[in-house]
Amino acid sequence: MTEQLYRANAYLRDCEARVLAVNERGGIVLDRTVFYASAGGQPGDKGVLEIDGVGICPIATTVYDADKATIVHVAPEGSALPSPGQAVHAVLDWDTRVKLMRMHTCLHLLCALVKFPVTGGQVGAEEGRLDFDIEDASAVDKDRLTADLNALIAADHPVSERWITDAELEANPGLVRTMAVKPPMGSGRVRLVGIGEDGVVDLQPCGGTHVRSTGEIGRVAVTRIEKKGKLNRRIRVAFA
Ligand SMILES: [Zn+2]
Repeated sequence: MTEQLYRANAYLRDCEARVLAVNERGGIVLDRTVFYASAGGQPGDKGVLEIDGVGICPIATTVYDADKATIVHVAPEGSALPSPGQAVHAVLDWDTRVKLMRMHTCLHLLCALVKFPVTGGQVGAEEGRLDFDIEDASAVDKDRLTADLNALIAADHPVSERWITDAELEANPGLVRTMAVKPPMGSGRVRLVGIGEDGVVDLQPCGGTHVRSTGEIGRVAVTRIEKKGKLNRRIRVAFA
């Protein structure tokens, strides 16, 4: 299992690590990493591995291995790969990651404002979206949502994280807003992400990376509300 340094501190931009394995498809496993592995609608991180005597190995994306615990850093074909046992300096593409953190946190706010079940979502560096089960489209308004999101952002609410046990989560099913994306359970504990004092704005289990306060998100706009099937409404948000 890879030590996931971003779980404790999403603001780490780089780390020293040791190569545990390299597969034939350019997948590199480290003992520890700051690279977020694609999950829950947030894409895997990009960046580079600096390898002594070898040079720079670009990382195009980061994914979980089949065991869902080992993180694989994926180098493009033809890259100079490190060898098992080698020390590397893992450096994130921070410009992209911080945008993903801002947009991811923004989607928590959207989730808090739209009181309908979430059926899916995707975080991007420029735009994000959430799908909701909404039968009556008049329940959501683009301009109203834009104003409400920017008010929550301007209020600069703190974003905090704490761990609870799987059993505590099971006893509070109301915490789970996303039916499509199951919270990361199975390790015995789940991370709860709260926005506002005691999670008054939003509180839900989430394994993604977030900014420390909503002010860091910056101004956003709801760009479109699309109909996707009888019940489904897709709400798109972009940085303004
Ligand atoms: Zn989250």
